[in-house]
This record gives sequence, structure tokens and C-alpha cells, in this order.
Amino acid sequence: MSERRDYGRYGTRFMLANIPPFLIAMSAFWFVVREFDARGLTFWVAVGVFFGSLFVLVAMDAYRYRHFRCPECGETLPKPNWRKIKAGDSIYFCCSACDIEWHVGLRIPDD
Ligand SMILES: [Zn+2]
Repeated sequence: MSERRDYGRYGTRFMLANIPPFLIAMSAFWFVVREFDARGLTFWVAVGVFFGSLFVLVAMDAYRYRHFRCPECGETLPKPNWRKIKAGDSIYFCCSACDIEWHVGLRIPDD
């Protein structure tokens, strides 16, 4: 049975880092809607920025899920086992060397 420990700092940093690309995506979306009828350069730039920032967001999260270091031994741990973690559950990384489940304070959305 592995020990369960909390490492909420990771979750907090994770959410904070998501804010800038999210805000950029939202502003770009606003321009997409506003310029929808004109379909000018602004519209296409906004479309590009919108999808670009969403891509950055997804790529950044995917990268960080694959580069979590065990706060105890410093080992890079495998990404969370998505088959074991169900909707509404807290996300954790397992360190087999320390036998610790690191709960990072992030949750899988319920819906
Ligand atoms: Zn460890």
C-alpha cells in the first residue's frame, strides 16, 4: 500500500501557468466573433491566435504531466494513469521508488 501525500504547489502552479494562454485564447475568440462578418485580416489573425493559444495550452499541460519530479527523490515520474483516475477524482503521480502517491491538488472535471 503506497503512502498518500499532498503536493498542492504543483497544482497551483499548473493552474496559474494556464491563465495567460487561456486569456489570450478568450481575447482572440472575442475578435473572431466581432470580425465574423467582415472576414478580413483581423478575423484570420484572431482565428490563428485562438487555435495557436489552445495548442500551446494543451502542449504545455501534456509536457508538464510527463515531467513531474518526485519531491522526495527527484525522479521524473510517469504521467498519471488516466485509466485508474475517474471523473471527479484527484490527480496523482506514483513514485515506485519511494512508494508514495503524490496528490497534486488537481481534479478531473466531473462532466
Ligand atoms: Zn520518489
